[in-house]
Amino acid sequence: MVEEFAFDTTEERRKVRQNGTGWIEVIAGSMFSGKSEELIRRLNRARIARQKVQVFKPRIDARYSKEEIASHSGQTHGSMPVATTAEMMAQILDDTQVVGIDEGQFFDMAIVDAVNELAESGKRVIIAGLDQDYTGRPFEPMPQLLSVAEFITKTHAICVKCGSTANYSQRTVESDARVEVGASDKYEARCRKCFIPHADSPTLHE
Ligand code: ADP
Ligand code: ZN
Repeated sequence: MVEEFAFDTTEERRKVRQNGTGWIEVIAGSMFSGKSEELIRRLNRARIARQKVQVFKPRIDARYSKEEIASHSGQTHGSMPVATTAEMMAQILDDTQVVGIDEGQFFDMAIVDAVNELAESGKRVIIAGLDQDYTGRPFEPMPQLLSVAEFITKTHAICVKCGSTANYSQRTVESDARVEVGASDKYEARCRKCFIPHADSPTLHE
């Protein structure tokens, strides 16, 4: 099997490759930080390497296109929307080599065991997601996924207020729902200094 890595072949990564097992890569960061772009880049490279790729996204995220994952810069990649981890697992074919998952934060907690199982069965799993919600709290199941991943990439956006490195997704509309699907109409990237915890976030305002 031809292996395709998105990164430089460091010693650790070379060892994983030689071992012939699967592994988990997590791409985590704020909104607009380039998670989807990075996921799409890795998936495209896997396809160029003629690997069998399957891509999933949670059905909750109906932005842009139902059958595609999409970046804010307009890049897209075909994907299968699924409502649950169980639905995703039921779709995965034995000969699939690479499993891509976008919007990991919208999956149920069963995703953690599922990606471990996929990696143990020899597949490369690449999962992108928001590591913090709009209040700055860790967004489950991303912390758990970061814990079990062999490789982690943290992506950053640019703060729209001051141009610094942004690590937060500032909600710009009134809503205290943890899941409020939107893009630049509802969120903007902010750095630590410019991020203001949302008015609906009581614990951060005590
Ligand atoms: P994510 O999946 O992390 O939300 P995307 O991959 O969808 O990010 O989009 C990243 C793209 O968003 C960037 O390449 C850039 O074109 C655009 N963009 C818009 N606003 C910003 C910002 N504040 N900082 C960085 N990129 C931004
Ligand atoms: Zn700032």
